[in-house]
Amino acid sequence: MPHERILLVDDDPDIVHVLSRFLAHQGYSVIGAATGREALKSLQSEIFSLVILDLKLPDVPGINILEQLKSLSPDTEVILFTGLGGLESAVQALRLGAYDYIVKSELRLPDLQAVVERALERRRLNRANQELLRHLQQAREELAARRKAELAQIRRIGESLAQPLAPEQLTTGLLNLLWESLPLAILGLKFSNRLSGESWGGNRCQTDLSPEACQTFNEWLEEILHQAQSGGNPAGPTSLEIPDFPQPAILWEIVRIDNLIGLVAAARQEPFSPEEAELFRIFILQGEAAFKNLLLFEEVKSLAIRDGLTGLYNYRYFWEMLNQQVLQSRRYGWPLSLLFLDIDDFKGVNDALGHTQGDLVLKNLAGYLAQEVRQADLLCRYGGEEFVLLLPQTPAEQAAIMAERLREGITRLPSSLAGREVYITVSIGLAGLTPDMDGAALVKAADAALYKAKKEGKNRIAMFYGPRD
Ligand code: GH3
Ligand code: MG
Ligand code: MG
Repeated sequence: MPHERILLVDDDPDIVHVLSRFLAHQGYSVIGAATGREALKSLQSEIFSLVILDLKLPDVPGINILEQLKSLSPDTEVILFTGLGGLESAVQALRLGAYDYIVKSELRLPDLQAVVERALERRRLNRANQELLRHLQQAREELAARRKAELAQIRRIGESLAQPLAPEQLTTGLLNLLWESLPLAILGLKFSNRLSGESWGGNRCQTDLSPEACQTFNEWLEEILHQAQSGGNPAGPTSLEIPDFPQPAILWEIVRIDNLIGLVAAARQEPFSPEEAELFRIFILQGEAAFKNLLLFEEVKSLAIRDGLTGLYNYRYFWEMLNQQVLQSRRYGWPLSLLFLDIDDFKGVNDALGHTQGDLVLKNLAGYLAQEVRQADLLCRYGGEEFVLLLPQTPAEQAAIMAERLREGITRLPSSLAGREVYITVSIGLAGLTPDMDGAALVKAADAALYKAKKEGKNRIAMFYGPRD
């Protein structure tokens, strides 16, 4: 190969002269050195493809030069000149990385040419291999880094969205994750519940965008969500023009979970790569899964504390809340009252109309009570046809007024059953928390008062005034 650089190190000026001319004639660029020191100086200042090195030099042993050369420039090939008596050091030199050796007394120019060509060919192959390996290694590292970053992102979504969050936290979390993970100009997200009308959402806009751009995008998002909510199949961003970038690239996904419908959309000027679109989709899928978890969690939570027939809180939940309320009343010195309500002669209703109709009466009564009580009151189905109503911050006298209002209201509450109206009455026992009472004592007191109301003729209220009563 023309212009490959060769350093020729020999203390015999004739040899240097003849060989330099010969190799230059072959098209190589040759530099001669007569001593070890001279050779080292050249090696430190430039890179050679090949060094032809006499092992026996007057100043520095050739082996030392070889060692230094291999540490300076590992892929420079070396051919050695040795005398017949120096074969042992030639073998050592081969071990140190020299390519071949030539016995000086047997040197013939065509042989030299062949060895030089082979050595240079080996160097070229080695270098090509190294280059290939370097590319391969680089590609492997890049791939590993990209996969690691993607996995970290996906894990981050998983971690931050998998815990049971409130819908507001979930939508904000999803919004933040998307905004941080993809270079977007505008991002909008909205979930809404078709039945309850509740909705959650938010948006992000790059600060240098005009307010009109963000507004246009948000209006479009609302419109698409509206179309999806009305049962249609929205056409998507076919004709969306955003003032700052008239032909935006858009990513969008619609999510439907039972009565919940959501839309997540992102826009920017530059087109999205398939990897970005895929990442966006993975985020939305994770968000969807998190929303499903959330709804399921709410449902299970509600199942655990609600009574199946009436939808009121159940016995277990009542006791939990009762103990909390007793503690609070003690701590702050607030009054606390409890009503214990039992339907009069309910067995008769069942006997006359059947158990199923009896259930409807219970449901009807529960609905009535639920609408009559205040937000802070705790209404529960205690068992069968018994209900309790815990009234925080309410003294017994005030609770008595409420009890009477309920009792009286119930006498006028029709239950429409199989074409006729049925009326019931209730008896109510009432007790107020006194300093010596815990939750169980309060329930016992209200139950005792209820017993009294039943004994005195039903359809009335009775109050517990303490153990002497
Ligand atoms: P009292 O005025 O003394 O309370 O008489 P009562 O008949 O209401 O009282 P009792 O405790 O003797 O009977 C309660 C009845 O309530 C018995 C049962 O048939 C009925 N009951 C309890 N739970 C349910 C329910 O879930 N559904 C229906 N349909 N009836 C129930
Ligand atoms: Mg009863
Ligand atoms: Mg009863």
